Amino acid sequence: MSWRADILTLFPAMFPGPLGESLAGRALEAGTWSLKVTDIRDFGLGRHRAVDDTPFGGGAGMVLRPDVMDAAIGTVSDNRPLIFLTPRGTPLTQAKVRKLAAGPGVILACGRFEGIDQRVIEARQGQEVSIGDYVLSGGELPALVLLDAVIRLLPGVMGHAESSTEESFSEPLLEYPHYTRPALWDGHAVPEVLTQGNHAAIAAWRREQSIVTTQNRRPDLYLQYIATGAQAP
Ligand code: SAH
Repeated sequence: MSWRADILTLFPAMFPGPLGESLAGRALEAGTWSLKVTDIRDFGLGRHRAVDDTPFGGGAGMVLRPDVMDAAIGTVSDNRPLIFLTPRGTPLTQAKVRKLAAGPGVILACGRFEGIDQRVIEARQGQEVSIGDYVLSGGELPALVLLDAVIRLLPGVMGHAESSTEESFSEPLLEYPHYTRPALWDGHAVPEVLTQGNHAAIAAWRREQSIVTTQNRRPDLYLQYIATGAQAP
């Protein structure tokens, strides 16, 4: 059985979008994963198919109605995790991505406007997930981001050439930097250790680069790394 993604959105034309290309696109064609997009508007109310209303308590913007969202969710809901994309959610991590890839699929609800009525999120026992500390105009790009991260981990999607074992976040560390030919480019040489064929020295250099880069750029991750009992470089 292939890994199944359902998307609930007001903008179905945004899918598969970039996921129709490259690795994910080929895997979609091969049936490694499947995608079903549901237009929330189909469940809108009245002649104008209204999906939103003004917020209780006042304030700017509109909120997606729980009755409309619930009807849309009801048509796709099964044993798969239901995720609401929202900046209020817990951060998307590689650990969460791996867990999703190991399961049967996912149902993703994309918000718009100010977001979705909290009652339907709770009643449907959805998880709330954020892709980062910034605000986008809708949940569609976050849904594509989440799916891209998951699909590349599905069995058979990445070839050996794109192996995922050593990359960033497989430990709480950023990856080391990469270099390719030419060895001397525009006066800039690649780090000498990489050209000398000493595999132990290369591994040690890459490890140190990972640790130092993480310490400089991501002190939060570095603390996690140290907490694993690892040594400073
Ligand atoms: N008023 C909300 C932002 C709404 S943005 C707030 O301040 O929290 C509109 C929609 O875009 C959201 O419902 C959500 O689905 C999506 N969205 C925006 N930023 C996001 C992020 N960083 N991660 C996940 N979804 C996001």
